[in-house]
Amino acid sequence: MRHVARIIASHADKGPLAVVVSALGKTTNALEEVVASHAAQDGRAFPLLDRIKQQHYDIARALFGESHEVYDLLNDRFAEAEWVLEDEPHPNYDYMYDQIICVGELASSTIMAALLKEEGLPVEWVDARDLIITDDIFREGWVQWEETTDNTRRVVKPLLEKGKVVLTQGFIASTKDNETTTLGREGSDYTAAILSHCLDAESMTIWKDVPGILTGDPRVFDNVIKLDEVSYREAIEMTYYGAKVIHPKTIKPLQNKSIPLYVKSFLDPEAPGTVISDDAEDNYPPIVVLEQNQALLHISTRDFSFVAEHHMSYLFRKIAEMRLQVNMMQNTAISFSICVNDIDDKVDRFARSIEDQFKVKIDRGLELITVRYYQKELLDNLRRGKVVMLEERIRKTVQMVVKDVPIMKRKEVPAV
Ligand code: ASP
Ligand code: MG
Repeated sequence: MRHVARIIASHADKGPLAVVVSALGKTTNALEEVVASHAAQDGRAFPLLDRIKQQHYDIARALFGESHEVYDLLNDRFAEAEWVLEDEPHPNYDYMYDQIICVGELASSTIMAALLKEEGLPVEWVDARDLIITDDIFREGWVQWEETTDNTRRVVKPLLEKGKVVLTQGFIASTKDNETTTLGREGSDYTAAILSHCLDAESMTIWKDVPGILTGDPRVFDNVIKLDEVSYREAIEMTYYGAKVIHPKTIKPLQNKSIPLYVKSFLDPEAPGTVISDDAEDNYPPIVVLEQNQALLHISTRDFSFVAEHHMSYLFRKIAEMRLQVNMMQNTAISFSICVNDIDDKVDRFARSIEDQFKVKIDRGLELITVRYYQKELLDNLRRGKVVMLEERIRKTVQMVVKDVPIMKRKEVPAV
């Protein structure tokens, strides 16, 4: 927290500054457990939430000592989730999820605001739910741009003009009726892009624990290199297929207003990182993006009729309703295959909803490998020890859905 405060302080005198913070590490996952326990009524929801609360108090104690106004504020933030736990579980799981999960960002930003105040910065804590308005699809709200732009200009602009550092939360938003929604996991980057767009920001910077955008995940691959410059187009392709550095929705609001996006490391704040902009030349080394938790759905007609256009349009309507992300697709005469992100119970819900008309077979636990600017040797390397279930090549991009297979080895046969 102190390190982040230092980075913020070092930018505070360089012009108007708005800061978006996410929840503390692992908090959102821990809150997801609270939601699940409350839904299951297994008696663990309160103790689990209490543990999260204690972790925040411990940090506050280390920063501010025993008595400080931050404790009352933190109590208020956690009370939002406690009220939900006092009620019966809400029949709409996703709705209940958003009402509880939001305390992660509310709490972390409250501590950060207190710390910045302590350091003498003119900080103003703003509730992101007063700025960003979405529709009422909980856990995956779609931004209502007109209202969001109005709110942001009305609330944030005057504060910036007064020289305040505006501090708000990523990921959380609100419906028109003041119900909390969220923008999808890891959505804090997107929040920053929305605000940048609405405020016509000069630039946006994402602070990460990696030096910038790399040509592959360094936890998985050797010899990855950092890209100094990336075009919006390339960034959107990479993130859509699973590059985890930035939330995929982040790019569009920035591209639409030519706002450059810097990706920098908070471990080395002076290093240049990567810049994503219009100016980047599209000339890249091979880039590998890996997306885990993929499901491949094989959908076929029950009566052997062709999968015709009207089937497709019906299927896609369902896909859109459930906000499934389709990463690859392919069709034959009587079957249609799609590769989707296997999150929550979306895949099962989708399968159930089309069951009356189609036969559905699901393969799970797959990986989607996307290679841009591929080289043959690299592809051979990536295929080793894998079964390729679906593959596609379009211009410079190869995509494959793969499954791990243990490599067969001849048994040692004892000599006779
Ligand atoms: N805290 C949220 C999450 O873990 C949002 C974010 O980190 O961007 O998904
Ligand atoms: Mg996060």
